[in-house]
Amino acid sequence: QRGLMWFRHDLRIHDNPALANLASSCDQLTCVFVIDPNWYRADHFQSKHLGAPREAFLWQSLTELHRALDAMGQKLIIRTGKPLEVVANLCMDHAFDLIGVTDHPGTRERHQVDMLVERFPQRVVVSDAHTLFTQHQLPFDLPDIPATFTQFRKAVEKRELMPRLPLPVPESLPAPITAIKSDPAPLSDRRIAPYQGGEIAGRAQLNHYLWDTHRIQRYKETRNGLDGWDFSSRLSAWLANGSLSVRWVAAELDRYERNVEKNESTYWLYFELLWREYFQWMLYHYGARFFAFKGIANKRPLTTFYAEAFMAWREGTTPFPIVNAAMRQLKQTGWLSNRSRQLVASCLIHELGVDWRYGAAYFEQQLIDFDVAANYGNWQYLAGVGADPRGSRRFNLDKQAAQYDPDGTFVKTWVGEHESSELK
Ligand code: FAD
Repeated sequence: QRGLMWFRHDLRIHDNPALANLASSCDQLTCVFVIDPNWYRADHFQSKHLGAPREAFLWQSLTELHRALDAMGQKLIIRTGKPLEVVANLCMDHAFDLIGVTDHPGTRERHQVDMLVERFPQRVVVSDAHTLFTQHQLPFDLPDIPATFTQFRKAVEKRELMPRLPLPVPESLPAPITAIKSDPAPLSDRRIAPYQGGEIAGRAQLNHYLWDTHRIQRYKETRNGLDGWDFSSRLSAWLANGSLSVRWVAAELDRYERNVEKNESTYWLYFELLWREYFQWMLYHYGARFFAFKGIANKRPLTTFYAEAFMAWREGTTPFPIVNAAMRQLKQTGWLSNRSRQLVASCLIHELGVDWRYGAAYFEQQLIDFDVAANYGNWQYLAGVGADPRGSRRFNLDKQAAQYDPDGTFVKTWVGEHESSELK
């Protein structure tokens, strides 16, 4: 049998059921990743959809995936074009018997799978390893997904749901189909230190946070820090492109709790993984409606857009030094702590009165760890729309600055001492 593995947001060979399934049922295999030219399309602010940090991280992740496949006698074919078209053409030209793909809640991703199934019935095998739980494990039918995170968490915890155990790397892979070649890849290999894409670096970061430094033991106290590598796990970028499996993280966390220590902090990391889980299933359920929740917290119409206010926010020149520092950090590094994300989102929505969706779209370009469900879900939450709608998620920015940046180090680092005193 001939198999085609279509890698999308599962750039790994560990805990990859789609790959494992093809490995055990095919004699020949092609592994493909498709670069969509839409990622390079400029928006009306002349920014391309795929920001530089995520592009570099993606490129490193693909390079690492290629290396891992190569070590098993396989290779990663990189093609450029409309993903569905590219994959459908490959299937027609090479008559694959099986097409393996990992499910993903994104509307585009689900449409791709639906269309593939329609065109090649009986041949597409869709595996689930993007979430902790499978849809069948959930203690409710998807249309009845709880309206708040707390209800979701309680439902999951009451049943003591256990994520399925991650799969090991397949022992061997079928031989490649040599006639199929890569296109020249347009991705940039710019450095994005301290991040390094790919599953080896992702698993190393998990080991670092748990086993090497035991920073996990203080996660609950440190996680609201604004800067610094070890305040939180820093796993989001690897989780977002799937070079790290969330089930692998949960299994390691469980092993840590059984062998070293179980405390409020170790639980809290799991608690955050449940937030991730909640938004994934919300997106899965709502589909395209997820992006259009109406009813904004403040009185302005939903479509309000103030270009000047938005540009000041984007460039870090608002009247709020802590927001400016965070927005400059985002632009330079592609990463922001959770606290900073909350503060800048609250500023855009509640202080500047700009529609949350412009902020979410800018984050989509800039974040190294952009995840469609987590990003849009969190923006909605802060705007008081979507799940758990409430109008009161407005942060007092001065109070927050006094609490989280009492000596102004964060602002000085990213805005500079001179400019920050001028802005005050
Ligand atoms: P940790 O605190 O160590 O948490 C561990 C993991 O749990 C994270 O890697 C992430 O996978 C998950 N997680 C933690 N908090 C959340 C949360 N609030 N919602 C969903 N999952 C969570 N996270 C993304 O991965 N991608 C995004 O595009 C994204 N956009 C966001 C936009 C806004 C406006 C806000 C407020 C939050 C956003 N988050 C997003 C959630 C969160 O800020 C990041 O996951 C976290 O800061 C990443 O750092 P970490 O890996 O050290 O997280």
